[in-house]
Amino acid sequence: MTSQPRVTRIRLSWKQIDCRRCHEARVVGIPCPTCNARPDPREVDPNLQRRQRLARDALTILDRPPGTQTTSRPVLDQWSPEQGLGPLAEWLEQFLPALNAAIDDASAAPRLFERVATLVDLRDEVRASQWLRPHMPLWRTADTLIGRLTDVARHYLLACAAPTPLQAQTAEKAGQRALDAGADDSSDLAERIDRWERITASDHVGDIIAALAVETYGLAGTSDLLVLEEAGAQDFEQLLGSTSPSGMGFLLLFMSLQAEVILDQQRFASSPATPMHC
Ligand SMILES: [Zn+2]
Repeated sequence: MTSQPRVTRIRLSWKQIDCRRCHEARVVGIPCPTCNARPDPREVDPNLQRRQRLARDALTILDRPPGTQTTSRPVLDQWSPEQGLGPLAEWLEQFLPALNAAIDDASAAPRLFERVATLVDLRDEVRASQWLRPHMPLWRTADTLIGRLTDVARHYLLACAAPTPLQAQTAEKAGQRALDAGADDSSDLAERIDRWERITASDHVGDIIAALAVETYGLAGTSDLLVLEEAGAQDFEQLLGSTSPSGMGFLLLFMSLQAEVILDQQRFASSPATPMHC
């Protein structure tokens, strides 16, 4: 991920005129907030109209049914979370700058449409791919991330089309929340992929087990075996409702990490009666 501060705002403006009845400034095309006078049906804000067309066209792309790809990107036959993370993280950094450019200048609209279409292509590819073990947790995170990025696009496009500053603000806030959640998911996915790569760097079972132990220490934030044993024993008791036999705490943490990166963490946690056989 880049260390530059992420763009989280879009720059919008609304044409203002003086109300003919009370002479207070108000936004074109909506009733006066001061005296409730109705707007003249002939008054328009050409800039807002252009923004609304831009958002409508981009939302049409965002809601495109699967299997109707329009960009020239090469289609990946079998997408993988490792391959896909780069484009998703890049998308997260580029979407708002592309939207801001298109808001400022109509000639930048194609670039925005291309960004939205790329996200939809990635979404189609992920859903059309076979989600194979041992990557299930990575797949789930990738799918959640794509859902967040779709929310980011939708909320900011709705803000862009909003007829009033207040409506735009509400939509933009929802967009920012999705953006923050997307950034969290993106770093979560990056972390899982890194961990997976560190653990599987060797073909030797001994090296893999040693790497798993290192990752277990790292995840627990300590290399003190007694602390790990105690934390694992608490998990054991929560999972099984009985006191953890001595030494079992560390083993459970160790296996939980394997489940996290290799197996399917959700299934591991939902089958407490058989943690030793996962
Ligand atoms: Zn008025």
